[in-house]
Amino acid sequence: MTTTTDTLPQPKIAVVGYGSQGRAHAMNLRDSGFDVVVGLRAGGPTEGKAKADGFIVKTPAEAVKDADLVAVLTPDMVQKQLYDEVLAANMKQGAVLLFAHGLNVHFGMIAPREDLDVVLVAPKGPGALVRREYEIGRGVPCIYAIYQDKSGKAKDYALAYAGGLGGARANLIETTFKEETETDLFGEQAVLCGGASSLVQAGFETLVEAGYQPEIAYYEVLHELKLIVDLFYEGGITRMLEFISETAQYGDYVSGPRVIDASTKARMKDVLTDIQNGTFTKNWVAEYEAGLPNYKKFKQADLEHPIEVVGKQLRAKMVWLADNAPKPTSQQAAAA
Ligand code: NAD
Ligand code: MG
Repeated sequence: MTTTTDTLPQPKIAVVGYGSQGRAHAMNLRDSGFDVVVGLRAGGPTEGKAKADGFIVKTPAEAVKDADLVAVLTPDMVQKQLYDEVLAANMKQGAVLLFAHGLNVHFGMIAPREDLDVVLVAPKGPGALVRREYEIGRGVPCIYAIYQDKSGKAKDYALAYAGGLGGARANLIETTFKEETETDLFGEQAVLCGGASSLVQAGFETLVEAGYQPEIAYYEVLHELKLIVDLFYEGGITRMLEFISETAQYGDYVSGPRVIDASTKARMKDVLTDIQNGTFTKNWVAEYEAGLPNYKKFKQADLEHPIEVVGKQLRAKMVWLADNAPKPTSQQAAAA
């Protein structure tokens, strides 16, 4: 079998940002043989972590100066300023600018220099999973896209990077900045983060308002969701149907569509329209620039929801959760 791996480029990489994605990317790429430097603001919150992991940490301006490829892994809302004030002035001619989410480029907040290749590599998982899967010899599937191909080799750079993350061990799918950005926003808003948490809260409130114990409601609508999602993940809805009782199946068929009906789907389409026409991003940028007044209010309401209060008490008794695992003694920690 022939692989293209041997012919892929080996760029010198600067990873700017060392959070969820940044740390996983930097570590996987280094272990895959790439020369990796980390760019962070001096005194920033993750500088110590990157140094403790053995990376050379420079300011973003210094880090990108002789990099062949710059991975922008800071929060989306600071990327425009970072690009305009630091990257545009300091990146080498003909270098590769890489993102893990297409938002800033797709919606025109960042207009990359014409001499650059501009690509996207987005692992389909949080950073911790990207690292864990790599360490056990597997990988998280990645999607990649090309926005600007000045060198004619933009795709090879994207594939080299995705391979270095371990994504080639799993699955690589080509997409566009538009498709990645719009589907990623839709997924997190309508189904994964927004949809799922609102569904759980509404179910919890329905039971508690009907007089049932909050502890029981928590187990029924939040805790057990993991078992269902694990089945989805392993074998789709088919696998869930194989594992749940006939009673649960019949209830699913008759009541699921009463809760999530055509009107829900119509509202999902509205959400998608707001994403596609830029309304969501315009509002999010305005919210960010105003100092996040609504974001903070909404977040506080979520954190204070009664399901969080009861959940905290119940999870303290779940010894198998990482937070409750016995802590290693300082001697064990030092030996590890
Ligand atoms: P994060 O918030 O976990 O980490 C951000 C990092 O950037 C931190 O190290 C922070 O100190 C640093 N930083 C902040 N402002 C900076 C600045 N002005 N200059 C230099 N460094 C700065 O971010 P994340 O969740 O890893 O997201 C990074 C990118 O990856 C985003 O584009 C996001 O959309 C994308 N992404 C995230 C996930 C995920 O699961 N978290 C998944 C796929 C893609
Ligand atoms: Mg996202």
